[in-house]
Amino acid sequence: MIVFDYDLCIKCEKCEKICPCLAIEMNEFPMLAYPEKCWHCCACIKECPSDAIRLRLPPHIGDQRYEMLVRDERNEMIFRILFDGEPVDEMRIRVRK
Ligand code: SF4
Ligand code: SF4
Repeated sequence: MIVFDYDLCIKCEKCEKICPCLAIEMNEFPMLAYPEKCWHCCACIKECPSDAIRLRLPPHIGDQRYEMLVRDERNEMIFRILFDGEPVDEMRIRVRK
């Protein structure tokens, strides 16, 4: 599931606007109001300007201590794996725009 780091969030509301499933709602901070609607597309993660959203990987992958960040940089999609908050692996995929 996606998780928020409210210490990093700047309340820009981009995650709420980009979510194709309307799963995120803004109150004081954004929250996953309808987790059952989220299909883990990572659009909100990619859109967040402050890396405040991550995809927590399921329990059978590292006891929920692994998370994934997604960045869109120029012509590459970057998938960064974190363990206990520290980057441990990275995969880059070239994309045509
Ligand atoms: S991962 Fe996709 S479906 Fe889930 S909350 Fe983010 S934008 Fe919405
Ligand atoms: S996109 Fe990121 S910084 Fe903006 S409201 Fe959502 S979590 Fe906060």
